[in-house]
Amino acid sequence: MKKGKKLYEGKAKIIYATQDKNLVIQYFKDDATAFNNQKKSTIEGKGVLNNRISEHILANLSQIGIKNHLVKRLNMREQVIKLVEIIPIEFITRNVATGSITKRLGIEDGTVLKEPLIEYCLKDDALGDPLIAEEHIYAFDWATKKEIEKIKKMILRINDFMVGMFRGIGIKLIDFKLEFGRIKINGKNEIILADEISPDTCRLWDSVTDKKLDKDRFRKDLGDLIPAYTEVAKRLGILHEQSNVSAVNITKLSTVKKKSK
Ligand code: 5GP
Repeated sequence: MKKGKKLYEGKAKIIYATQDKNLVIQYFKDDATAFNNQKKSTIEGKGVLNNRISEHILANLSQIGIKNHLVKRLNMREQVIKLVEIIPIEFITRNVATGSITKRLGIEDGTVLKEPLIEYCLKDDALGDPLIAEEHIYAFDWATKKEIEKIKKMILRINDFMVGMFRGIGIKLIDFKLEFGRIKINGKNEIILADEISPDTCRLWDSVTDKKLDKDRFRKDLGDLIPAYTEVAKRLGILHEQSNVSAVNITKLSTVKKKSK
């Protein structure tokens, strides 16, 4: 598949055109950002791990009937995905309260929620992805009621599946962010899961020690981000000791180059 011109560059990924107008290439960068772009770094090897982990999770979600944009992984850093019109909402699902919700509402860190809580944020970097109510989505036509009902059902199914998948490998799925897109399939409008699911977009804690195995290692300056992401990939059965993308190779790439504070 030939890579065409760059269509979009985000904080962690680049989208390129292909010769097929319905397909694009998603390139996973090593860049890490946090706190509305105020903290930036390049963490060598992160893109490679997220590409593999996201491919693994999306492929598994496909198998349980969750339609998503993944077509196939091309190489270490790229995957072919279906071009969708992204709905401008970040869908946050929480099983345990931590991060922004604890500060916003004064909830004790680590509080286990009775049932999964879905929050909506407007996808707008300039505004800092503000939290919005479901009513805002309809008031400003960001999505229809039918679309949100469909997405909520998909989210709960995705959460159920991922909680179980991670529990099986000794990891607690604390919370995560999803994005969805509109696409026409055989002339019919559909909503499919888009973007990525990786330790960049999920909070993952070791079941026994509560060790953070996700992007909070960068946000909170905990260090050892690559070993943590590698641990997630190994437990998912993606990386094997003899693999070309072995933990050792990735750990060798793990020098953190600070761009700015
Ligand atoms: P919080 O609202 O506590 O900062 O984040 C909740 C969850 O959503 C975390 O798993 C976090 O990684 C994810 N999340 C929220 N917003 C973003 C974002 O803009 N980028 C990424 N990569 N993850 C996000």
